[in-house]
Amino acid sequence: MKKILILPGDGIGPEIIKQVIKIINTCILFGIKIKLIYNYIGGISIDIFNKSFSNNLFNLCKNVNSIFLGCVGGYKWDKNIDKPENGLLNIRKKLNFFINIRPIKCPFKNIDFIIIRELSSGIYYGKPKGISKQIVNNIPTWYSYDTEIYNEQEIIKLIRISFNLSLNRKKKICLIDKSNVLNTSKLWKKIFFYINNFYKNVKSNHLYIDNSTIELIKNYNNFDVVLTNNIFGDILSDECSLLTGSLGMLPSISINSNLLSLFEPCHGSAPKIAGKNIANPVGSLLSLVMMLEYVFNEKKISNKLYFSIYKVLSLGFGTFDMKNILNNFKLVSTNEFGDLVNHFFLLND
Ligand code: NAD
Repeated sequence: MKKILILPGDGIGPEIIKQVIKIINTCILFGIKIKLIYNYIGGISIDIFNKSFSNNLFNLCKNVNSIFLGCVGGYKWDKNIDKPENGLLNIRKKLNFFINIRPIKCPFKNIDFIIIRELSSGIYYGKPKGISKQIVNNIPTWYSYDTEIYNEQEIIKLIRISFNLSLNRKKKICLIDKSNVLNTSKLWKKIFFYINNFYKNVKSNHLYIDNSTIELIKNYNNFDVVLTNNIFGDILSDECSLLTGSLGMLPSISINSNLLSLFEPCHGSAPKIAGKNIANPVGSLLSLVMMLEYVFNEKKISNKLYFSIYKVLSLGFGTFDMKNILNNFKLVSTNEFGDLVNHFFLLND
């Protein structure tokens, strides 16, 4: 029996997680032993515990086999000091989810590469950071600052894992940074090409972040493993979601040093469409595909779910954001999409 902690979060989180639970219930029917535990993170946790990441949640995370998260954030907490997004930053930092893998895959368009994003360090966490008032030219002036810090050990660990992952793919890896300007990037680049010496059969290259925003869209077939830091990975994966049609399509897995895994779609809480039953659940469902393979070792069932999702899409069924992407498009709600996937998932081969 494996324990999975479910954290629906805010905005469209509960609606898309509902579709994941539908499929998990079918997995239980297939004989997979899963125990679901529910808890709160982000805005909903602020409402209930007055904290975006509670101690109770921290302790729970250490006692489960894996975590499945929806998304956090919303206008409701704009004036709070503790923001819903802190819940996300805390779960990543406190449980040391240092590596985040985001597959950019679309069988319809023959797109298949992964973005590896450093997740628990860099400018989102570096200190000092703050906002204060200072006197500039005799005028009291708001002054804000963030700090990008990486140490050698963090970089080596991530780069070695990325090279190892590339061995099981097309043996091709690209580092994306801003080493023409930033010191942290200079260190990443130096270590990357040093480690490359131990992986002679892996073809490596390097791009500056600015140029990469064009190359990834124009020449996506040139990429296989894309490695980058926390902030660039955050932005580039949103950009690359355009290749698959919608931000709602991208799944992700994060792993810590104890091999605890965290699954979540790449998108945020999409407050403008929350509660309308129109959000795209594909990113979450594809995250479940990964969980079935990596946590449960159920390759066959994982494949079955993957093919069920693409069967539904290939028939033209999709949420509103897939309108211009799918042939013979037929609009369905979040719930209807989940039901259709479950229908094909339940069918015998
Ligand atoms: P967002 O990802 O929520 O939305 C960006 C755009 O994509 C919006 O137009 C939205 O409607 C659309 N979109 C996102 N997911 C979708 C889905 N599944 N189906 C259909 N359309 C979808 O990003 P944002 O608008 O910049 O941020 C909204 C909130 O989410 C903010 O509070 C932000 O901090 C938070 N956020 C959370 C996460 C996370 O939980 N991992 C990630 C990014 C942003």
